[in-house]
Amino acid sequence: MAEGLKMFYARYEHNINLRIPVEEIKESDRKGLICEFCPAKISWVTPHQQHGKNISAFLRLQKNEQHTSNCKNSVKSAITSLVAHSQNIEDGKLLLEAQDSAFIFRMNVLIEASAALRKATFTPEEEADPDKKTRKRIRYKKTEKRLADYFNTATGIAKIRAKIEESSDKKALSELVKIDYNGKEISWNNFFYDEDRYPILFKKAERIAHPVAILITVKQAQKHINTERSSFYSLKGELCTLEHEDKSKEFFAPGLTCNDTTFFENLEAKDEIIVVGKVRPTTNHWGEGKIFKNLNFNIFNKKQITRLKD
Ligand SMILES: [Zn+2]
Repeated sequence: MAEGLKMFYARYEHNINLRIPVEEIKESDRKGLICEFCPAKISWVTPHQQHGKNISAFLRLQKNEQHTSNCKNSVKSAITSLVAHSQNIEDGKLLLEAQDSAFIFRMNVLIEASAALRKATFTPEEEADPDKKTRKRIRYKKTEKRLADYFNTATGIAKIRAKIEESSDKKALSELVKIDYNGKEISWNNFFYDEDRYPILFKKAERIAHPVAILITVKQAQKHINTERSSFYSLKGELCTLEHEDKSKEFFAPGLTCNDTTFFENLEAKDEIIVVGKVRPTTNHWGEGKIFKNLNFNIFNKKQITRLKD
């Protein structure tokens, strides 16, 4: 493990003007890599599996190396840069609000904006008056855009958490960004879930009223499910298998659904994505007494999803 964020771009020591994506770094070039923003030396981490789920190649800081204090691959600078971007939301409230030396992530702003979008939803056929129809459409587009901006910030902050490896960085993040839901602080552990913590998410899911963030590896490109009763798009995450001491196994299957053909269109197998939304747990019984524990998310805004490496 190393301090600083997991990275997906590097530069060569001998050619510092080139920014190279991790998947294009040849084996012969894996020595002599530096951070894309500062001179810190970094190393290439081989793709591997965690609980049966694929983790793609990434870059991490070498031992005893340090990013410069303003490098965007340090936790603090990454947050500062995200906050600066998030302040430009048009006539909206602040999702990340500065308070003393920290920031408050106001979960309720996200929830209220989601509710406002549901309220603004209309079908054009319902409104006969053309002026009213135009006004409603404009209002809907505005509400949708504002919600997209909020989700952009929420997935951005979850992405910073997803790129952290060291516990000291986790601690720094939880001191720098406090999550507020209905006036109460909720811990980062109750908001962010990677494959190690799918079991806890599944166990608690029924009782969680607020949105959560989950890290998923995409299993395959989206499928259009079209039956007599319904039509929707489905994106499955890779199965996470947990083996217990008595050799018994538990299977966790994350999955996304939506009604818009564009939401999942750029996602493909092995993409690691972060999703922010409300989780709905279900179970599927398979042969030989196998039970699949599903973690379902219904996606209603494209910005609820972000790719880890983007
Ligand atoms: Zn750096």
